[in-house]
Amino acid sequence: YDAKTRGDTVAVYVPESDHNSPARLGLLGDLRRSLETPGFGEVALYYQPQVDMSSGEVVGVEALLRWRHPVRGLVSPEELIKVAEHSGVMRLLTYRVIDEVLAQLARWAEGGMQLRAAINVSVRDLHTTDLVDYLAERLAEYGVAADQIQLEITEGALMADPRRVLATLQRLDRLGVALSLDDFGTGYSSLQHLRRLPLSEVKIDRSFVLGMSTDEDDASIVRSIIELAGALGLRVVAEGVEDERTWRWLVAHGCHVAQGWFYARPMPADELPRWLAKYRPPMLLRAVPNQPEA
Ligand code: C2E
Ligand code: MG
Ligand code: MG
Ligand code: MG
Repeated sequence: YDAKTRGDTVAVYVPESDHNSPARLGLLGDLRRSLETPGFGEVALYYQPQVDMSSGEVVGVEALLRWRHPVRGLVSPEELIKVAEHSGVMRLLTYRVIDEVLAQLARWAEGGMQLRAAINVSVRDLHTTDLVDYLAERLAEYGVAADQIQLEITEGALMADPRRVLATLQRLDRLGVALSLDDFGTGYSSLQHLRRLPLSEVKIDRSFVLGMSTDEDDASIVRSIIELAGALGLRVVAEGVEDERTWRWLVAHGCHVAQGWFYARPMPADELPRWLAKYRPPMLLRAVPNQPEA
């Protein structure tokens, strides 16, 4: 694949643009092999804490895929998901993620850490109700309560055809699993659907949160989402909270939960207990008296 020159525009070959490229097919084979390896092979889950903004307490973690490929280096989770979605390996991947997360929650519980975890699922995983049965079986097997689990579905994918997955969402809701609308603000949700789908929270897309401190439009969008979520009785989570200024603004505007580098980056499971032991809510920092002025 050479870069093609057309007039003054140069089209550079990008593997992401071709589902059947040799690079993609190579990755797919490697992914399959990794998924069949006990312990997930080169694929791993990292966990990022989510913090309640009014108490400063850690309320849960989001599980995020990491793939350290021996030749390609770090493959982004977006690339990994694209490879999986266009190949039918997605379901296998989602099942492996669910299995890993529940096993991890059970291990943490043994060590006295009762945590909730958010798992990202592809909307394709919801086209049948198999996922509900799988999840219910694994919850029973690992002794994890359904309300310790939250599934995140991106707004764009869900709202493209909400009716198609309604039955699955309702079954998940009855099972006691919470549902979160991820990357909120990037898709097109109708108020009707927001009201009728059994959602418990929306997660503001990180692009708005990252842009907030420099872009007034982003700040207005974040403010509107918080208001909308409030009106609909949904919890609102901000991801991509990188600095104290953003954190303060979100606290002041009534955002419920935050996730971002300001608190912690996603980390391997075995680092989380140490991080939690050292964690001090930023609220406490705020209570420290200011330095006397010089
Ligand atoms: P997402 O679900 O919206 O996850 C949040 C993303 O924001 C993560 O990117 C996280 O690392 C990043 N992030 C969190 N805090 C900050 C921050 O303060 N600053 C910045 N710049 N970024 C922050 P990541 O880990 O690269 O994952 C990208 C996407 O890949 C996820 O977006 C999700 O859509 C998808 N993904 C990851 N793991 C899975 C999975 O197990 N299954 C599925 N279906 N999708 C997954
Ligand atoms: Mg997510
Ligand atoms: Mg998101
Ligand atoms: Mg995303």
